[in-house]
Amino acid sequence: MTISEEQYHSVLDIIASACRVARAVQKDLPNLRQLTKDDRSPVTVADFAVQAIVALGLRDALGPQLIVGEENADELRTPGPEQNPIRQAVLDAVRLVYPDLTLEEMLDAIDLCNHDATSSIYWTLDPIDGTKGFLRGQQYAIALGKIENGQVTFGVMGCPNLSADQTRPLDQPDEHGVMYAATASGGTWEHLIDRLDSEPRRVRAGDIRPGQPIRTCGSVEKSHSKLSDTMRILEHLNEDSTPVRLDSQCKYAVVARNQADAYLRMPIGADYVEKIWDHAAGMLIATEAGAVVSDITGKPLDFTQGWRLETNRGVICAAEGLHSRIIEAIDALGIAPTAI
Ligand code: AMP
Ligand code: MG
Repeated sequence: MTISEEQYHSVLDIIASACRVARAVQKDLPNLRQLTKDDRSPVTVADFAVQAIVALGLRDALGPQLIVGEENADELRTPGPEQNPIRQAVLDAVRLVYPDLTLEEMLDAIDLCNHDATSSIYWTLDPIDGTKGFLRGQQYAIALGKIENGQVTFGVMGCPNLSADQTRPLDQPDEHGVMYAATASGGTWEHLIDRLDSEPRRVRAGDIRPGQPIRTCGSVEKSHSKLSDTMRILEHLNEDSTPVRLDSQCKYAVVARNQADAYLRMPIGADYVEKIWDHAAGMLIATEAGAVVSDITGKPLDFTQGWRLETNRGVICAAEGLHSRIIEAIDALGIAPTAI
């Protein structure tokens, strides 16, 4: 492990407290303040607050760190009728963990995550992955990965609405939530957000079960993954099952813990480039549990390209044995985009 046992537990504590804040913010969804980013995607009080809390937590526990975060404080720094209430709401949320923080310190904390992914060692953070799921009261994830020389060496993912009880439907939010953590060659472990002192459980992705239907999962948002391509692949594999749909990197965890056999993220077009914060933690959590992760051509996700997965398109995360069959099906169906 490239981080010590003590650091591992500190990071888990940070993500658990961020999960509690996100949950507190989500309790008041009707009054939730949000902005719309330039790409039309929503950003909420929780996105900003979690980014500040994780940045401050890492700095306090590990000293100054380089972090590539999804958000920045530019919009919040601009005074205006839309920004003022959201800025105060973010400060109130961050103060649940840092009671004495000033507004300026809170804005600076968000901007601690402004690294550009050019160093050899840095963290990448998606403070609220699956913001649309968060806004629907469904699944979302707080995802933190550590990248060293282009390799993901540590990943932690808080899933505040995902139940440790796998019999519970994925679209029903759980009141406790789970967290997954993986280190390179150290396996994937399930922790309970509210009981971090209890024994973690090692999780393993499944083996393919002959004669059993293939259990797949994918995005809720139609614009994030082409469901019709997933359906063509399943048909090619003689499957008549349909994917379970849930938001965020929780999908990697669902494969890691053998609740699904595969997560397919089929590109809508050839030009969307995936971001490192959307995949670093999830990929390690899935691979350390024994699943195989690649893009839709079968190429491993390449974290040497900066903050975007420039040389990859889409994602296939699947149990060993099934992964190569999915890639073969994509190839046979001629789905792979050519514009890389
Ligand atoms: P999911 O919840 O799996 O659908 O993924 C949520 C993530 O999808 C967000 O964090 C966005 O960064 C990302 N996203 C936004 N637009 C697209 C797109 N056109 N294709 C794939 N992913 C996207
Ligand atoms: Mg995201």
